Amino acid sequence: MPPPLSRGISGPTCRRWLLSRGRALTLTLVLLAAWCVALPLNAAPGRPDLGRVILNGRPYLELAEWAAANRLSVRWNPRSGEIRLTNRWARLDFKADTQRVEHDGVILWLSYPILRTGDRLYVSQRDQESVLSPLMQPPRLPTGRKILTVALNAGHGGKDPGNLAGARQEKLYVLQLALELQLQLRRAGLKVVMIRDRDVFVPLEERPAIARARAADLYISLHYNATPGGDEAQGLETYCLTPAGSSSTNDRGGHGAGYLPGNRFDRENLRLAYEIHHSILGQVEFTDRGVRHARFKELTLAQMPAVLLEGGFMNSREDGRKIFSITGRARYAAAITDGILAYKRLVERGLPE
Ligand SMILES: [Zn+2]
Repeated sequence: MPPPLSRGISGPTCRRWLLSRGRALTLTLVLLAAWCVALPLNAAPGRPDLGRVILNGRPYLELAEWAAANRLSVRWNPRSGEIRLTNRWARLDFKADTQRVEHDGVILWLSYPILRTGDRLYVSQRDQESVLSPLMQPPRLPTGRKILTVALNAGHGGKDPGNLAGARQEKLYVLQLALELQLQLRRAGLKVVMIRDRDVFVPLEERPAIARARAADLYISLHYNATPGGDEAQGLETYCLTPAGSSSTNDRGGHGAGYLPGNRFDRENLRLAYEIHHSILGQVEFTDRGVRHARFKELTLAQMPAVLLEGGFMNSREDGRKIFSITGRARYAAAITDGILAYKRLVERGLPE
């Protein structure tokens, strides 16, 4: 439970505090602090700014105000904490005190939980800017610019086998997937840059540099997950770079690192991750582990919108069918291709589908 806003100080409590001069001074300081906290910090004449408050040491916005600015109606159940924002085009489902949000049924993870104080709900300003805003107002390329070339990075390679499931090595299956995806993207009319097209080791920091040198517009990194201890975990995870100053999905709400090269594309990264994740879930039966944020090295260094896909767990029987079979990889590659094309259409023309 977050600390209550200082707006809540009531009359009788205040009167008791006025009994001594020392307390009167304390009251003055408390009221001053309350005024500072409750004041909309970014209010400026003529700007439809949302009121900002500081909660848990970081700026938060009132969810209802953000929803109204985006023409979303709010319904929420204080008992269960379930919150639904809807309009004709979108549906967002939150749960108070958690970082989980569903946009049209697809899970995304916020950096910080939705907070409630009394009957009010708050979303962190960082999440509003880097997750909610790109969902409601997709990024657009400058007029005339197009997505033409996609860099495909098959993770690991050579001396680095990646994850293992028995004798099966991740590096070999992501290469098979990359080769299939290369075919499908070319068929769809895109140029493809292969970071590696055989079993060789390429240092991690060189991979985004190769994409940049060959003028790739997008960077897609392909990986498969594994759990060392068992086979209970399964499902799809799509990662994009953690926005500057935010917390990564697995960091449990800490303060984040500063601005990294890949942060130039925070909005594009999120939208690209969402489109690909959404497309895959629509075409391939996966447990949805959500669009997530991480500071993986290749994402931090990418000089173009970039995502990293963990396309299932190698030691899960369910996911293994998609990973180790030609037909499974072909379906998965088709879904990734459709997601990339959806992103391309969106940023080139600003169309929602
Ligand atoms: Zn990997």
